[in-house]
Amino acid sequence: MRPLSYSRPSTIEQAVALAANDPRGAFLAGGTTEVDLIRAGVAVPDHLVDINDLPLYAVEELADGGLHIGALARMSDVAGARAVRERYPAISRALLLGASAQLRNMASLGGNLRQRTRCAYLRDGVSPCNKREPGSGCAALDGFNRGHAILGTSEHCIATHPSDVLVALVAFDAVVRTVGPLGERSIAADDLCLLPGETPELEHQLEHGELIVGIDVPAAPIARRSVYLKVRDRASYEFALVSVAAALEVHDGVVTAARLALGGVATKPWRARRAERALAGAPADPASFRRAAAAELDAAVGRGHNDFKAELAMRAVVQALSAAAA
Ligand SMILES: Cc1cc2nc3c(=O)[nH]c(=O)nc-3n(C[C@H](O)[C@H](O)[C@H](O)COP(=O)(O)OP(=O)(O)OC[C@H]3O[C@@H](n4cnc5c(N)ncnc54)[C@H](O)[C@@H]3O)c2cc1C
Repeated sequence: MRPLSYSRPSTIEQAVALAANDPRGAFLAGGTTEVDLIRAGVAVPDHLVDINDLPLYAVEELADGGLHIGALARMSDVAGARAVRERYPAISRALLLGASAQLRNMASLGGNLRQRTRCAYLRDGVSPCNKREPGSGCAALDGFNRGHAILGTSEHCIATHPSDVLVALVAFDAVVRTVGPLGERSIAADDLCLLPGETPELEHQLEHGELIVGIDVPAAPIARRSVYLKVRDRASYEFALVSVAAALEVHDGVVTAARLALGGVATKPWRARRAERALAGAPADPASFRRAAAAELDAAVGRGHNDFKAELAMRAVVQALSAAAA
């Protein structure tokens, strides 16, 4: 048994100081993934800073048509908020298709963004894993890698990022607001997670003790008819094999603007910018959608069991874009 201390501060400043001043301090929000990782011995904090008393629960419409989501807002509350359902249906849908009803009632948005990969080789605590033990190798490269990434991978890690909602947030250029030991920061959602490269143990931009306080989603009329499509092995309570957040603006049958991001296929939520460029000015039909998907997936590298994901992702993109155009 390992000793673990616990505190429950009531201000953001106290929370940041408590976590930052302890080299093994960690925040606790809903606890739906942090507690699992502690039990598995993958996370080894010696001080948990419970942030549930902080005033970070709001889901607010902004005057300019955008949205502010507090870091402690629960997945179910955000999914059900009228402004989210009306202005960004893909965000609401991505949340509703994640985890289970009980988990969504407990799990916070800040914790969702900071969740770690579900790669079994990280979580089993014994296999070679460059995230858990840098330099030990990556068991997934030649192991059972059916759920692993085909985009953004390196020779050191092919684990996917598991968040659904971050895929939709990336598509809509959301900004993550933080407070850390050095003050406040704004980080583009697309930049929050890092590609594994040579250093897969570095998973995100945040400094030790840096607290996510909220997420701002800019006004985006295109998002009002957005869709989130999730393909998985069973119909609920399962992570994505492939997911797609998509929104289109179409005039006279021609695409004038597109937003597209992919989940389940990459080492971080993947903004499909090549596909977006291919869509601009193209006819809004399945053949163009397929060409756009191919422009993005050309770079895919499968490792055997996950080879099927490139074709699956192309079909999912066509389906999501067709729904967005309808
Ligand atoms: C069985 C199961 C199925 C799931 N399925 C899905 C799914 O399909 N799709 C999906 O997207 N997710 C899924 N999840 C993940 C779930 O969404 C996350 O566990 C949850 O969102 C984490 O939020 P939390 O508040 O419980 O975070 P916690 O467990 O409290 O914390 C998670 C991590 O975030 C850090 N943290 C928490 N809040 C902050 C903050 N404000 N600032 C900085 N760091 C912070 C903690 O220190 C910790 O490292 C699943 C989880 C489980 C257990």
